[in-house]
Amino acid sequence: MPPEGGCGNGKVLLSFRYGYVTCNPCPVRTPAALGLAALALTALGLAACGRSAPVATSRPSPPVSPLAPPRAPSPLASKELPPSPSWRIGASPLPLRPDGFGQVLSTPAVLRDRRLGTLDVLPPPPGAAFRSTTGPVTPAIRARMGESWTPACPVPLSRLRYLTVSFRGFDGDAHTGELVVAARAAPQVVQAFRDLYAARFPIEEMRLPTTADLRAKPTGDGNNTAGYVCRAARGQKRFSAHAYGIAVDVNPFQNPEVRRDLVLPELAGAYRDRGWRRPGMFLAGGAEVRAFSRIGWTWGGTWRSSKDPMHFSLNGQ
Ligand SMILES: [Zn+2]
Repeated sequence: MPPEGGCGNGKVLLSFRYGYVTCNPCPVRTPAALGLAALALTALGLAACGRSAPVATSRPSPPVSPLAPPRAPSPLASKELPPSPSWRIGASPLPLRPDGFGQVLSTPAVLRDRRLGTLDVLPPPPGAAFRSTTGPVTPAIRARMGESWTPACPVPLSRLRYLTVSFRGFDGDAHTGELVVAARAAPQVVQAFRDLYAARFPIEEMRLPTTADLRAKPTGDGNNTAGYVCRAARGQKRFSAHAYGIAVDVNPFQNPEVRRDLVLPELAGAYRDRGWRRPGMFLAGGAEVRAFSRIGWTWGGTWRSSKDPMHFSLNGQ
């Protein structure tokens, strides 16, 4: 696991799901539904967080969550706000199962209808219109990707692209997300996120997974939307579609993978009930699923042996 000293300057090391850690001076998320999304944030230590630590684990890495970026203090922060429940993501590592995952525990009350605000990694888009950029994986981006890509991965960096896309948070605001996907899939992925944005589908966070993310102890409460991660398919030796840049996981917590007695993220069991419709869920027949079926991608919510409704892929795996 990452050393607690990995975050400098008084920042806090946060571990998100199994694989995801970030340094954040203001780690408590508050429910966007209560209008508290506008947290007063000071600049976050991305550079310090980017340094990764030892400890390699064979634990399967999941969809990971983003580093919170600099954000100016919001005027709302000084407003009188009602007391509300809040959630400190990554604060409590779970007891481990023999397979390395965390124990599946009941969903904390504040997360049963999860609507946490977004911490911006990148500046929000100007105006209300959808925006996107597509570019190469530069040395700076590659450095931020840490161990989510290595020369042993099946796709060279030259065949990957770094995307930024607008997304709507649970706070109702527009944010800018980032992800890496295969060059051949980039235009289609941008189109899918354009459709999700037009549908005002809420997404909690979308940032590059880091080495710290990949090495963190499981806390079962991560919710990062991500594309590229070079890892094996869960429970298998072959590479996941994520390792080829042709899969995206969206809102893992609202759309947990369920395989027998395992739920990932481990605290998301309340979302096994797909009949209880809550924001951020992908539901069969819904317009949000069509955003990906339109580009020819397959939805993991249709799988038979296990359900993985956060997962969309070009190759159906
Ligand atoms: Zn996936």
